[in-house]
Amino acid sequence: MIDLHSHTNESDGTCAPAQLVAEARRGGVTILGITDHDTFKGYDGALPAAAEAGVELICGIELSTKLHGHSVHLLGYFLGGQNLDEFRGWIAGQQAERRDRNARLAVRLRELGFDVTLAEAEARGRGMTGRPHFAQILVEKGYVANLRQAFDEYLDESAKGYVFRREPQFAEAVARVRAAGGIASLAHPVRVAGDIAALMPELRASGLNAIEAYHSDHRPEDTELYLGLARRYGLHVTGGSDYHGAIKPNVTFGSLRVPDDLVDRLRG
Ligand code: AMP
Ligand code: ZN
Ligand code: FE
Ligand code: FE
Repeated sequence: MIDLHSHTNESDGTCAPAQLVAEARRGGVTILGITDHDTFKGYDGALPAAAEAGVELICGIELSTKLHGHSVHLLGYFLGGQNLDEFRGWIAGQQAERRDRNARLAVRLRELGFDVTLAEAEARGRGMTGRPHFAQILVEKGYVANLRQAFDEYLDESAKGYVFRREPQFAEAVARVRAAGGIASLAHPVRVAGDIAALMPELRASGLNAIEAYHSDHRPEDTELYLGLARRYGLHVTGGSDYHGAIKPNVTFGSLRVPDDLVDRLRG
């Protein structure tokens, strides 16, 4: 069984890389794509366990991008043989920018009178520390009643604690993945704001060459729609559960069916 979308605790999943491989195997997955947000650390860390368990690992990543001001997730798949030095360098730059933003955010929140440090946030979010972790701290320390209030009053783009972070545009992220020899797949298109069919010519023109037709959030009719768009625009098809471990207990390995020839077609 194939599952090309999963997260370890190197991004926002709850399983350590080796544990993720064990869970996948238990669910019957034999080809596993690890697609942590903005990092390959989970994939790198899972390689020994996968070799031992006889699970084939697919090197992937999920990038947060902006498209017309909205957040859109892009999956990148590197099926083998690519030299990823330059791409890894680009991701490292993105992570450095995130960390710098987090440092500025901690300073800003202290200016506003809150006892919050970067270290406290990073203890919660590790490599993917971000605003949600600062929000958690504000709640735990009793400054706000809940996460919603933390965002509304301090962390949202229009709120008084917000500090700017440059996020890659969708087209730039696609170009980076393609330049590195990867497959660029639109993640969970059901979550894209607006009319996906109308957006497709623009996405295709930016170099997008795949779409995630199979995903835990998709109803059968959604999957049919995306398979149709893939045919019409000549896109590869990808699919995966988007497993995150205990924080999304409803999404388990083995529950999402994708065609057995999915990966062969990506290679073909
Ligand atoms: P960051 O990448 O650190 O800027 O944080 C972005 C994340 O914060 C998003 O992925 C959301 O999970 C969360 N987020 C952004 N805006 C809100 C909001 N208004 N309410 C709750 N969560 C939000
Ligand atoms: Zn995630
Ligand atoms: Fe996503
Ligand atoms: Fe994901």
